[in-house]
Amino acid sequence: MSKAEALFDLSGKVALITGGNSGIGLGIGRGLAQCGASVAIAARRVDRTAAAAAELAELGVRAIPLALDVADAASVERAFAALEQQLGRLDILVNNSGINIRKPAHDLTLAEWTRIININLTGAFLCSKAAYPLLKRNGAGKIINIGSMMSLFGASYSPAYGASKGGIVQLTKSLAMAWAADNIQVNAILPGWIDTELTQQARIDVPGLNEMVLDRTPAGRWGRPEDMAGVGVFLASAASNFVTGAAIPVDGGYASKG
Ligand code: NDP
Repeated sequence: MSKAEALFDLSGKVALITGGNSGIGLGIGRGLAQCGASVAIAARRVDRTAAAAAELAELGVRAIPLALDVADAASVERAFAALEQQLGRLDILVNNSGINIRKPAHDLTLAEWTRIININLTGAFLCSKAAYPLLKRNGAGKIINIGSMMSLFGASYSPAYGASKGGIVQLTKSLAMAWAADNIQVNAILPGWIDTELTQQARIDVPGLNEMVLDRTPAGRWGRPEDMAGVGVFLASAASNFVTGAAIPVDGGYASKG
């Protein structure tokens, strides 16, 4: 193995990706598996999760499906116990599960607000807390949280989503500060507009969204799940051992456009 390959090598490492059965999570999962990591795909839809794990296993790594609802503390506990039982350790946690309900604040119900915050923000807290003893035990670890352009900008139709994604950046910084001494690096990826099931629905809900994204993104296209693989591998590997508390836009230039 060359020195360059060793920098990004993940052989012997175990990753758990919440919401890894689809879109951005699966894009990152493919990248981690290509670099040799064993991967646990953890989400609610059992058939989709099993299919994603089977796809990653074809890359020659161990890949397992886990049933997980990140908004349910008991489910998080069960999933991490199953992970430890089946793969024996955890090195990399990707907090990727997320939903949106697109309505302005005056139409959003408290139940809808709570559902979004619980999945997008509290879920990341619960999974990070469950991961901590496993990472600490190894003397090293990586947590990658998925934020959004709405960690930075407002959108009239996404008050709870924006609050959850702003919160993800601050949670990232708090965990990074708390766990730096344990050699656990905690960072966030802020994806631009990526073509996934989430945004296919957004294109239906928000008139003119496709045109706005193409016009506002300097790269002139929607991102693809595979665009998230490189930054995922970087933040999961030894290449990022002195990077912590960062929130990295991966957005085709969207956040830099004046
Ligand atoms: P997808 O809808 O394709 O993926 C969402 C994933 O979250 C699914 O795997 C889903 O699996 C999982 N999920 C939802 N609710 C729960 C839950 N309660 N417990 C566990 N898993 C859950 O969308 P994306 O890939 O686009 O989204 C992934 C992340 O990226 C989200 O956090 C999203 O906010 C973020 N993001 C997306 C952007 C984009 O443009 N697409 C831009 C910026 C951020 P299941 O239903 O089986 O549980």
